[in-house]
Amino acid sequence: MQVMPHADEFIERDGFIADPLAELNAGQYGVLHKYKSRVLVILRGGCAINCRYCFRRHFPYADHHFGPAELEQLIELIQNDANINEVILSGGDPLMATDKQLDQLLTRLEQLPQLKRIRIHSRLPVVLPSRLTQELAHRLAASPLQAILVLHINHPQEISPALKQGLALWADAGITLLNQSVLLAQINADADVLTELCEALFAARVLPYYLHQLDQVAGASHFAVSDEVARALLHQLQVNLPGFLVPKLVREIAGEPSKTPL
Ligand code: SF4
Repeated sequence: MQVMPHADEFIERDGFIADPLAELNAGQYGVLHKYKSRVLVILRGGCAINCRYCFRRHFPYADHHFGPAELEQLIELIQNDANINEVILSGGDPLMATDKQLDQLLTRLEQLPQLKRIRIHSRLPVVLPSRLTQELAHRLAASPLQAILVLHINHPQEISPALKQGLALWADAGITLLNQSVLLAQINADADVLTELCEALFAARVLPYYLHQLDQVAGASHFAVSDEVARALLHQLQVNLPGFLVPKLVREIAGEPSKTPL
């Protein structure tokens, strides 16, 4: 249901637009600088799967190629802004890049003393757990930058034994593992499913981080859950789980300096 096209995608609903986070004019050179201390790199345009609710489903990746020239521009941007201390690799999916390409990028970023952290946002390990290579984990662990892998897992059934094995490799190497989910009607908008997801994540050594309200992208309105239902689900999670396993329920609002808690 998350990846198969559905006729409901043709439903036109007010407020559901092509560029819900106003990214099309915010970025340059494959780089989005939305938040004060973090800069986001659209490292690769492709993903292992095409999630039908993806807020970048209409994003013109071809115009945001990140190559050697864009890397130099990123370095310049960071050097000219002392507030930036973290680089987020996003996409598409940054783990579509090879270990060698990631190593080369890291090597350049490590030369910038103002940087503290490198964050990789990826959904790829869910469908290709073997992408969590030991080599990449050790490369990241050896970096002076603290490395964080933020997974995108929406349902406990996505956590396979093979994924758990890959995550254990990365956790053993010392990589911080977090997860963000999107609240999706008919998939995980259910207190029992979300409770099971948070428990399964922690059993796989991953901390639940964000539960996102759906970004209102055209073609995905059938996945939307009302704020009232979302808040009721959060309340139930607070009852069912210890505080450290309750993700923050947030919405991203274009132009805001951070995510907005609900
Ligand atoms: S993996 Fe992420 S970026 Fe790729 S299609 Fe799914 S939601 Fe979009």
